[in-house]
Amino acid sequence: MKISEILKQNKRTISYEVFPPKTDSSFESVRAATEEIASLSPAFMSVTYGAGGGTSQYTLEIAKNIESCYKIPTLAHLTCVSSTKETVRRRIADLSAAGIQNIMALRGDIPKESENMPRDYRYAVELVREIRGTGMDFCIGGACYPEIHPESISREDDLNHLREKAYAGLDFLTTQMFFDNRLYYKFLENAEKHGIFLPIIPGVMPITSVNQVERAVSLSNSYMPKEFLALVEKFGSDPVAMKQAGIEYAIGQMNDLYENGVKNIHVYTMNKPDVAEYILRSLSSNLG
Ligand code: FAD
Repeated sequence: MKISEILKQNKRTISYEVFPPKTDSSFESVRAATEEIASLSPAFMSVTYGAGGGTSQYTLEIAKNIESCYKIPTLAHLTCVSSTKETVRRRIADLSAAGIQNIMALRGDIPKESENMPRDYRYAVELVREIRGTGMDFCIGGACYPEIHPESISREDDLNHLREKAYAGLDFLTTQMFFDNRLYYKFLENAEKHGIFLPIIPGVMPITSVNQVERAVSLSNSYMPKEFLALVEKFGSDPVAMKQAGIEYAIGQMNDLYENGVKNIHVYTMNKPDVAEYILRSLSSNLG
């Protein structure tokens, strides 16, 4: 099923993100974790794509497995910046042949050592055009950044590029994680002012350890509100309490989003079935 069809149903939903194994040896444990998450019947599941190394084919395998065993619609991520046109076209054809109907079209991060990197694509908008150019009937998602992309020179510039990407053929957008919902609400207003009228699914990350806080700040410059920092201060030295507090904070964010009219929320579950299950149990009365 296409995600655009799920979004049109106008029901409250949760979707979950998982990532494929980074090494061949971890394939089985990742597959088991993703299957456990799929058995919770989220509205859809996204499977990220690691461009580097030889494990990028696992995105397809994990996505195929989720679709065929659990009948959960999947969103296969695909990045372009460090790939040749040939590789990208092969991946798109493989996804189509496997019956995957949804692609998240991403640029990907520019690798630190980029001297010998292929230069066939510079921005995600080119990948969106590439996918649309195949004539295959995919539903296509794109990434967006309520706190602007870290490489952007200004908010204005980022939103103008986002509009270009949207009009190249996107069906929906998913946001980078954020920890203050006001940033998301403001972003929705700004996107509309810039002529972007696509569904914008908020991406919520349940933080389960202090390391993750540091990673979120360094990766995406996420603003951490003082209520959240107070939790880290209070529970940071106790891993069990920190995990519980981080999940509860994310549930608080999600309740506020639903109360403010948001229908679909994407959760960065990081291959943790216990986190996915806890969230679903806590919010089940809010769904449907
Ligand atoms: P783009 O849309 O190309 O934007 C990148 C930057 O270029 C922005 O600053 C933008 O303003 C600017 N820009 C865009 N078009 C132009 C133009 N024409 N001229 C000048 N500047 C321009 N990474 C992975 O490797 N694998 C994943 O599975 C993955 N999944 C993700 C899922 C989500 C929901 C999000 C938010 C991010 C994900 N990422 C993933 C990270 C993503 O690849 C990085 O954030 C990357 O740096 C940007 O990708 P993008 O698709 O947003 O790029």
